[in-house]
Amino acid sequence: MPSTEAQQDVRYRVADGAEFHHSQPGHSSQMPIECRTCGARQDLTFFTRDGKAFLECPQEHQQQDWRLHPESVRQGAAHAVDGVVTKMFFPVRTEPQVLPGYEDII
Ligand SMILES: [Zn+2]
Repeated sequence: MPSTEAQQDVRYRVADGAEFHHSQPGHSSQMPIECRTCGARQDLTFFTRDGKAFLECPQEHQQQDWRLHPESVRQGAAHAVDGVVTKMFFPVRTEPQVLPGYEDII
């Protein structure tokens, strides 16, 4: 058995829209996730590769988002049935970290 099971790459499609949920004391917000190129919000595909999280719209625009963490994407895969999730919420982490940048488009 490989010992890297926790780092296994996942890939699934969110058919009906995904959102970021940002919670902190006294405040919470929800932001729909959309393709930064064409604005698509439905049928986004989320996947991990090389320890990073990516999303891809139906028009195959691939991008990264600093709010999207590989661990969250992996956990979401548990809800996928035949590679599809109806709706998904990704928590936004608030701890300090080095951010890859808002405009880190691959
Ligand atoms: Zn797009």
